[in-house]
Amino acid sequence: MAKIKKLYMQKCGNIVTPDHFPSAPNTTREYKKLIVISLYVLEHPEHGVILIDTGVELSRIPEEELEIMACIRPGISKCLPEIGKTADDVKHVLISHFHWDHCAQNVFFPKATFHIRKNEWEAVNDPATPGYGKFDRDMAKEFAKEVRDLKLELIPDVPEYDIFGDGSVISLDTKGHTAGHQSFIVRFESGNEMLLTMDATHSEDELYDSRHIMNPWSLELAVRQTEMLKRYREETGRKLWICHDANQWYDCKKFPEYYE
Ligand SMILES: [Zn+2]
Repeated sequence: MAKIKKLYMQKCGNIVTPDHFPSAPNTTREYKKLIVISLYVLEHPEHGVILIDTGVELSRIPEEELEIMACIRPGISKCLPEIGKTADDVKHVLISHFHWDHCAQNVFFPKATFHIRKNEWEAVNDPATPGYGKFDRDMAKEFAKEVRDLKLELIPDVPEYDIFGDGSVISLDTKGHTAGHQSFIVRFESGNEMLLTMDATHSEDELYDSRHIMNPWSLELAVRQTEMLKRYREETGRKLWICHDANQWYDCKKFPEYYE
């Protein structure tokens, strides 16, 4: 069965948490977090270009968050020509969760099918479910309005879900950060496999010290997910790919280099 040919990592900006950053209680003068905002581009032999998250977009950053943003890069739709692709080649977008740093560029891919966990879509559209800012909720509404004939695939609330039915990308239920958060296992033609944690953890610190877990919808579930991630790492001997981890970013292959 077809598997992923290539995976590219692209950064769209940095967040530097200031002293008063509300969702990082352990941020101090000495301990300031640098958070990388990154996304993934996959090439699938049958399903074309697949994005995992769409990242930030300058005009779609909440005003109160602007001060923590640094070095915003051109959107992924503008970078695709570097690998011989355009936004029209993007057939599928997998959204880990509906926070503004993960899905602000959704509207640039109106022809794609969006794969979101059912719980996530319901939660961001339900004002009674905590875990989202007003900006996140407004962005979800705008997205549904701006993308005419929105193609939405809602992933059922099961522990693992084979998105394309060929084992190439597996959605993992990692609710905790938000009510319907998903992480992914990507399987390559080469036999390689990568677990993309998305925001199930933001850094190595979070994996080992729950006081560093930022802003969870459910702390109990968020802790449980970090245990699952560490178990995967121990059992498989594979690395965890953490999209916000700045230390990891500096060592990884960056767009247009790729993993296979
Ligand atoms: Zn995030």
